Amino acid sequence: ERDWVPADKVVETTCPYCGTGCQVEYGIKDDKVIWARGAYGPANEGKLCIKGKFGYHYVNSPERLTKPLIRRTGIPKGPLNGRPIHEVFREATWEEVLDIIASKIREILDKYGPAAIGGIMSDRSTNESIYAFQKFMRCAIGTDSIDQSATLCHEPSAWSLATQLGYGAATNPIRDVLNSRTIIVVGSNMNETHPVIAAYVKRAAKQGAHLIIVNPIHTELARYAEYELLIRPGTDVVLFSAMAKYIIDMGWYDKEFISRYTEGFEDWVRSLDAFTLDFAEEVTGVPKDVIKEVARLYALEKPSMIMWTLGITEHENGTENVSALINLALLTGNVGKPGAGLMPLRGQNNVQGGADVGCAPGRLPGYQPLMDSEVRRRFEEVWRCKLPSFIGFRSTEMIDMARRGLIKMLYIVGENSIRSHPDSKAVAEALSKLEFLVVQDIFMTETAEYADVVLPAASAALEDYGTFTNTERRLQLTRKVVDPPGDAKPDWWVFVELARKLGYDMGLRDSTDIMRDMARVAPVFSGLSHERLEREGGLQWPVPSESSPGTLILYADGFPRGRARFRVVSWRGFDVVVERLYPYSLIIGRERAQYHTATMTSRSPVLRVIWRGPVVEMNPEDMRAESIKDGEVVKLLSPAGEVLARVKASTRVPRGVLFTTFHYPELLANTLVPAVLNPITKTPAYKDTRVRIEKVNA
Ligand code: SF4
Repeated sequence: ERDWVPADKVVETTCPYCGTGCQVEYGIKDDKVIWARGAYGPANEGKLCIKGKFGYHYVNSPERLTKPLIRRTGIPKGPLNGRPIHEVFREATWEEVLDIIASKIREILDKYGPAAIGGIMSDRSTNESIYAFQKFMRCAIGTDSIDQSATLCHEPSAWSLATQLGYGAATNPIRDVLNSRTIIVVGSNMNETHPVIAAYVKRAAKQGAHLIIVNPIHTELARYAEYELLIRPGTDVVLFSAMAKYIIDMGWYDKEFISRYTEGFEDWVRSLDAFTLDFAEEVTGVPKDVIKEVARLYALEKPSMIMWTLGITEHENGTENVSALINLALLTGNVGKPGAGLMPLRGQNNVQGGADVGCAPGRLPGYQPLMDSEVRRRFEEVWRCKLPSFIGFRSTEMIDMARRGLIKMLYIVGENSIRSHPDSKAVAEALSKLEFLVVQDIFMTETAEYADVVLPAASAALEDYGTFTNTERRLQLTRKVVDPPGDAKPDWWVFVELARKLGYDMGLRDSTDIMRDMARVAPVFSGLSHERLEREGGLQWPVPSESSPGTLILYADGFPRGRARFRVVSWRGFDVVVERLYPYSLIIGRERAQYHTATMTSRSPVLRVIWRGPVVEMNPEDMRAESIKDGEVVKLLSPAGEVLARVKASTRVPRGVLFTTFHYPELLANTLVPAVLNPITKTPAYKDTRVRIEKVNA
């Protein structure tokens, strides 16, 4: 693990984990990664967190998939349950497996049409591979049911930002937080999830910025804050709407900005009548004097920045929460200036890029609408194909449709859906009902155990060349560090070859060629190329021409849709019946040393030493009231399912709130999350699942 151990070569690339996009150097010896250390990049300035530093062992793992696998005849789909992989699947060549997939696709198209096929792509992959996937699905198969993990996390951010401002992305560079005088961090434990960004926020607070933390559980970052608002889960929209109303009542809003750049102000102001300070105090649990003071700081101590992660978005009303933040920024003119902006912090290395390159239903690369006739004409001409004539489904909808027998084939790339989607039992049922399931991944996962064929992928981060887009819209190169194991292939290669088998030549020879194709069809990428990124380093889109330096701060010269829009938001109240039956609010989050379903991080001996384990954190007073001892195993029950969990006493969670993660297979927390989705983005409510507790031996 020591970066002074001599390496055969040192390669600089981009960290494969979170959306910060830290630059990292890997030391390579005998074609294996032997260490990692921080390299200078605009987002990290040489820093790395523990995952970036010690999370690379998965690349060298002997458990990597190395050959295409085909399910043996007569073996039913489902968990391996300890059986060796080769009892259930047989090895095949790429030629054989691609022929089988192509013939199955043709059969399903003949029987049911293109709407019966859907694809879920990994945001861990490169922009180039994700772009190739959506082109393959749309042109070679003819379906628009394509999605990536944003639906499970930040799609409410992307949707509200795009609808109200123009682009579904963060407005400012990460480092710009150092120019803010007031910073609100809401629904984010960034010290654990984005430690390098948290370091900038701490630095800003030490320099004198007013730091305000809004979260239902205590976070370490709050030690640097002037105010910590322990908000009742699911009530963010009330807090931020009450702040807005108070700012208006006090006359602290930016009248010139509103009249010059926005629309819908009057209607929105009228909609705020109900959000009084008394109401907000009662609903959110935050004292009204604190709400007043935080509103004053945000409106008057400018420039002000709002940063958030999934504590805002993973709710049934996630789009309302994000819109409430955008409304507040527009009200006070905190957009389009240094230090002032809206910063959703993206969780996956390339979840921003996945949406940018068009892997979402109805959205072609560069956020161009599929149903716009002029856009369609242009794309069909360049891509030489007929685009789907229907808007497809999001991943959560696809799983539901598979369960109901309406989708017959899924192509899942690098997503462990059984662990990452809500209602794990329903996902398993959906996967077993499919006529054909293709899974492409770097390891055998719980989801791959249901597959008809499993394709071995090269790791996008270390075994392929391309780009990732970080949380500040910066495209950065990821370089090939080592060769993929066995017959594993880059994701884009598989889509290009499969398209060829189906009779469609995608016209893409390699990753650099794909970037050229992206720049041809999407104006936000027009000035980008691999050559330029090699020469100049990462650039933030929009990059409209080769002479453009990229866009540091969005909306500095106005809004692409003409005027920014205030959006009326509402709060639907508490469901008192559900709250009585299920008195605890369970928050499913993350911990610093693990990443999502831990497919990669669990392979690191260093990260395994410091993991917290499959526990549910509970306030000691609640434990006393329920007669539960520290370490006791209890049953958690929700309207969707039940799991056994070991309780850990924790004072960071307040009474009535429980916290766990979805990192551990021993505690399938998402089993508890009902598939209650945001009506617009179909995002699940991982951050406020109602549960009750039963003692196991009662
Ligand atoms: Fe990697 Fe994110 Fe950690 Fe940076 S902060 S090293 S990008 S996991």
